[in-house]
Amino acid sequence: MIDFHFHAPVREFVEFLGEYAEPAFRYFNAKIELKEFKEILDYYEGIGIKRFVVLPIDSTTFLGRRIHNEAVPNDDRVVRFVSVDPMKPNAVEELKEAIKKFEPVGVKLHPQLQGFHPLDEKAMKLYEVVNNHGLIIVFHTGTSGIGAGLRSSIRLDYGRPIYFDEIAVRFPDIKIVLAHFGWPWTEEAIAIALHKPNVYLDLSGWAPKYVPDALWKNAKRLKDKLLFGSDFPLIKPDRWINELSQVNLDADLKNKILSENAGRLIKSTGRG
Ligand SMILES: [Zn+2]
Repeated sequence: MIDFHFHAPVREFVEFLGEYAEPAFRYFNAKIELKEFKEILDYYEGIGIKRFVVLPIDSTTFLGRRIHNEAVPNDDRVVRFVSVDPMKPNAVEELKEAIKKFEPVGVKLHPQLQGFHPLDEKAMKLYEVVNNHGLIIVFHTGTSGIGAGLRSSIRLDYGRPIYFDEIAVRFPDIKIVLAHFGWPWTEEAIAIALHKPNVYLDLSGWAPKYVPDALWKNAKRLKDKLLFGSDFPLIKPDRWINELSQVNLDADLKNKILSENAGRLIKSTGRG
């Protein structure tokens, strides 16, 4: 199995969340343990997860902090992604350097927590770099558990799936993953994944029993587009996998969701 949405090391993740950490853990009803990176991966490898897409984030201009690309330790099980704040004046150069240095499979962007509209001109410049290198982009979409219940300038609008349809049109060769299937605009996200060959949905951030019915109902039509991701440490992968076994889908389809689709997507970059 491949977990396509993983936040580690845990300490760095908690520090990045800062004042949003405790309310977010309550929102997810998550119990956070500060275990070491290798110990975590060893444990999940023991239940059959072979690879982990570990996602850093750079929110230098919006939140004033980041999980550095360097913070993700080298480990054969890690599928490397990088993140650069699109609003930084030197974002394009920094992304090019990060690609050279880390040879990532993809780039993670979180418009709400990085404070940019997905169609902002500066962000477009980064998508061009991603396009030139044949990388994947994972976008956070939908609502955000980070900031829930607090005063903030986090704009949910930046997570609306329809903006990523426009990006899929302008960059038909970039493989675009809409993380968390865009809830509460899940049907919009489903429509885009059905319509655009280069758009995928990751199922992270939601335990399978809470994933909207619309998604499971369309799972067959989206059989090559759905990716298992946990959102560790907010949702634990073992819980996710256990609950998937209660969902009424055939074994072939579950296997595509848990392993095959992610394997093929990573391989398509020639870097996995
Ligand atoms: Zn996440």
